[in-house]
Amino acid sequence: MASIFSKIISGEIPCYKVAETEDFLAFLDINPNAKGHTLCIPKQEVDKIFDLDDALYIELMKFSKKVAIALEKTVPCKRVGMTVIGLEVPHAHVHLIPLNTMEDAVFSKKVTLTKDEFENIANAIGKAM
Ligand code: 5GP
Repeated sequence: MASIFSKIISGEIPCYKVAETEDFLAFLDINPNAKGHTLCIPKQEVDKIFDLDDALYIELMKFSKKVAIALEKTVPCKRVGMTVIGLEVPHAHVHLIPLNTMEDAVFSKKVTLTKDEFENIANAIGKAM
């Protein structure tokens, strides 16, 4: 069965898209730790990030770096943190989270955004790339 993220890639499930290439997609996390929390995924569905082949893993890191730089330019923060978990969605993904305090890195702290806020921040990060 396709992962939730494969359904996002195919357009079956909507997302707030930040950036897309032939092999990767960046979109906002629907339940963000902080405004601008972005997920970067390979379009190839592989569960665990360290099971990606080396070339795809390195390209995912390069793609994530570009998104992180755009995110840091767009969302006021001390720095952008990068986390890999994968306990909820079995499709490799990198979390990019604008950090101001250690709490922002804790996955039990969540913020609520309106549809407009999601749309505006996704567009602004994409434009900064
Ligand atoms: P993890 O697998 O790294 O533990 O967490 C998966 C992340 O994906 C969570 O932060 C969760 O909020 C996010 N997520 C789960 N389902 C969806 C979805 O349908 N759309 C989006 N945009 N994010 C999702």
